[in-house]
Amino acid sequence: MTGTDEFIELSERRSAHNYHPLPVVISEAQGAWVVDVEGRRFLDCLSGYSSLNFGHGNPQIVAAAQEQLSRLTLTSRAFFHDRFADFAAGLGDLTGKDMVLPMNTGAEAVETAIKVARKWGYEVKGVTPDRANIVVMEDNFHGRTTTIVGFSTDPDARGGFGPYTPGFRIVKYGSAEAVREAIDADTVAVLLEPIQGEAGVLVPPDGYLTQVRELCTAENVLMIADEIQSGLGRTGETFACDHEGVVPDVYVLGKALGGGVVPVSAITANADVLGVIGPGQHGSTFGGNPLACAVASTVVGMLATGEYQARARELGAVMHEELRALIGHGVVAVRGRGLWAGVDIDPSLASGREISEALMAHGVLAKDTHGSTVRLAPPLVVSEDDLRWAIGRLGAVLEELAR
Ligand SMILES: *Cc1c(COP(=O)(O)O)cnc(C)c1O
Repeated sequence: MTGTDEFIELSERRSAHNYHPLPVVISEAQGAWVVDVEGRRFLDCLSGYSSLNFGHGNPQIVAAAQEQLSRLTLTSRAFFHDRFADFAAGLGDLTGKDMVLPMNTGAEAVETAIKVARKWGYEVKGVTPDRANIVVMEDNFHGRTTTIVGFSTDPDARGGFGPYTPGFRIVKYGSAEAVREAIDADTVAVLLEPIQGEAGVLVPPDGYLTQVRELCTAENVLMIADEIQSGLGRTGETFACDHEGVVPDVYVLGKALGGGVVPVSAITANADVLGVIGPGQHGSTFGGNPLACAVASTVVGMLATGEYQARARELGAVMHEELRALIGHGVVAVRGRGLWAGVDIDPSLASGREISEALMAHGVLAKDTHGSTVRLAPPLVVSEDDLRWAIGRLGAVLEELAR
């Protein structure tokens, strides 16, 4: 079986239809480029939803993984292992926090932050038992577990999965006033994405993160930044919060932390917050395993040089300039920061899905988000020429559609 159609037919017949993939079957990749089973090459402008910030098969990451694979891969946290200390100290230093708690997937890290915030609320802030509430945002995306989908406002993500976990208050994203109104004596945390990725790469108004930070400090509420997609270099800084010089109480990280090789997620916070968790109160069999730590430590080391953040800044400026030139030529609006853009296509021209399919025919892989928005997030290792070429392909697609 080598043909695209057969692979797709069997995949669709034997797996749940929880995704709607583009009809391409990828078998190899290097850097920013992937190759399918027919030998066609595509520029990857999705990067595994920013899991592949450092590119496919990044030599430094692969070497670290290979070395670790043949030495030690799993111990469970019942024992210490020799990769853990460096990982914890390195990620703690990168985020400027005392402590880390490793998990595997992003949703698990968000769940961890929720648990920690609640326990902190009861034990440190003095909230009445079982009364804690957490302020969250409209159009959020924090993962797919039962608690998390309960405070989603996306009917597809949420519908049919109740009853939902209580203790969340949903407010309008981008309004510090709405956060202020929602906070009461039982509020333990404000959970937000500093840029909303799945919602269409929505950048909040200038000053919003600063205002939320000030509110959280004044009200003794934890500010939790879900930087799973926005963090680790994507926006041109290590974290999207850095653009406003804001330091949250809790960072939630995932995706690119695993270097595109293994799932690695974590939260980081200071000891007055993460110190509330004791033995038996939280954990994961695979969280913080030696292979994950070897990969994540390499990622942390790569980010410590600032090289990838600088690339995202410089290439991001090129990408946004080229995309803005398409406004009025099929593009209605462009948002984003660094090498990350949400491109709103004129809905009378095509849906985001149709644009993604047309781009694929031109050798570019991208993914629509809501309705007529296409998201662009190539690996930070993409060359400037390839990047310009990809946006040229978008221009060509829009021109074809306008005819
Ligand atoms: C992808 C994502 C998650 C969930 O991560 P998974 O690894 O898919 O569980 C959570 N928050 C944000 C902002 C994300 O982009």
